[in-house]
Amino acid sequence: MINMPLHVVWLRHDLRYHDNQALYAASLAAQADNGRVVAVFIATAQSWQQHDMAPIRQDLLRRRVVALTTELSTLNIPLWAVEGTDYQHCVTVFQQLLSMGMVALYAQQEYELREARRDSAVTQLLSQFNCPVHWFDRLCVMPPGSVLTQQGDIYKVFTPFKRNWLAALAAKGVQCFPKPLAQQGEPIQPPDWPAMQPGDDSSIAWSVTEHDVLNKMRAFCQSKVHDYANDRDLPAIEGTSSLSAYLAIGVISAQQCVARLQLEANNALAVEKSGASVWLSELIWREFYKHILVAFPKLIKHHAFQADTDKIVWPNAPTLFEAWCKGETGYPIVDAAMRQLNNTGWMHNRLRMITASFLVKDLHIDWRWGERYFMSKLIDGDFAANNGGWQWAASTGTDAAPYFRIFNPVTQSERFDAKGDFIRRYIPALATKTAKEIHWPHKPITPRGYHAPVVDHNNARKVTLALFTAVKGKETGGEHDVG
Ligand SMILES: Cc1cc2nc3c(=O)[nH]c(=O)nc-3n(C[C@H](O)[C@H](O)[C@H](O)COP(=O)(O)OP(=O)(O)OC[C@H]3O[C@@H](n4cnc5c(N)ncnc54)[C@H](O)[C@@H]3O)c2cc1C
Repeated sequence: MINMPLHVVWLRHDLRYHDNQALYAASLAAQADNGRVVAVFIATAQSWQQHDMAPIRQDLLRRRVVALTTELSTLNIPLWAVEGTDYQHCVTVFQQLLSMGMVALYAQQEYELREARRDSAVTQLLSQFNCPVHWFDRLCVMPPGSVLTQQGDIYKVFTPFKRNWLAALAAKGVQCFPKPLAQQGEPIQPPDWPAMQPGDDSSIAWSVTEHDVLNKMRAFCQSKVHDYANDRDLPAIEGTSSLSAYLAIGVISAQQCVARLQLEANNALAVEKSGASVWLSELIWREFYKHILVAFPKLIKHHAFQADTDKIVWPNAPTLFEAWCKGETGYPIVDAAMRQLNNTGWMHNRLRMITASFLVKDLHIDWRWGERYFMSKLIDGDFAANNGGWQWAASTGTDAAPYFRIFNPVTQSERFDAKGDFIRRYIPALATKTAKEIHWPHKPITPRGYHAPVVDHNNARKVTLALFTAVKGKETGGEHDVG
């Protein structure tokens, strides 16, 4: 038992000390009652595996916790990182903290089902000991449930959601919290529990200091954002922010991104198609999918948003799935993209759209297979964004691509990797192909070391249309390829 009040901050996907409301609130409370702030992080490898969390994302989490421990030590705030097992283990951790003199818990809310169950088990325990829990809803700039239609309903279409979101931003602004107050006093010893294991360093290419990540975000808002509207669709260049992995584990907040964007590019934000406006739209897409997830928990249970599409009987050929996973489909842009994912843990957004569409509409494999594969590889794996992206591409989701608009992987490649530079980077067997040949290198024959196409796109799209019309009836919107 420690003879002073302990204000415990439970860090999860808010691994930062700037703009961390839970940490800030705890530090104020500790100052008021002469108590101390202690932060805890519980590594739960078994639960992470159940979520298909990619090893590289797990490593990023672990490395970030180590870096944050050092950063918080400059404020004399200890971060105790525990190696737990699964979410049930969290209750045990808090039992120990109660016995040490914990007087309040502070944490950022999470929306997924298992996480909500975990949090309610901990809340229940603490309430038995009259220990208050302060939840902060800070995963989004506009928390789920706060952007509604005039009838009080959730928006199921992005554009009006965005309009209302922007109106809320104009009315309320965006609030970022200062770093927690530094505290005085001798170090407090953590309980005798297993310290968090180090990661495997698979994410080593990604810096994990808050300083570097904030600088990356600021630099993007200062300069690259102005070209974003043009550059964001070109996978051969670094035209996007590459902040998704950091947003996913909370090294930075969406609030910080929006506040910085307003500071650096406020005039551009008033122009509809400017890079700054388009980037802000992407941050709003992130929030849209989180709002949808909270309003429709069936998504967490792997149901399609459009219930009729759950009736589609996907052929699910294992060999085709394997070819897709390995980047061996014979469609260069798809294969280069999958190799980018497999090699780096990240994939460009345009390519996520192309590969997802290809899996579902060319290979006729259930989108859930692809969703799961992405999750098991992505450094930025985020349930809401991943599920939203997959259901958009599969035409099963809210505001999804209509099913009869089918990406043509070859024309997409010609448009977005016109010179073939991206393909050449990941497929050495095509290195000598010209910009004209590289998108479809099979004429007259497939080059040595590359793969023959596993399907014919034109036939495949006919099958897709049949699969969808079988459950939806015939659409009158036209059937066309999207190049
Ligand atoms: C099939 C599919 C799966 C996806 N899975 C994920 C995922 O697991 N995690 C994830 O963070 N994003 C996912 N996305 C969205 C998007 O591809 C990535 O957020 C983006 O590529 C990350 O790169 P960036 O940080 O440079 O993004 P930028 O273009 O710089 O965008 C800024 C931020 O906005 C958010 N964002 C951008 N686009 C989207 C979008 N379409 N939906 C939701 N948020 C968006 C991200 O947080 C991103 O970091 C997925 C998209 C698709 C089509």
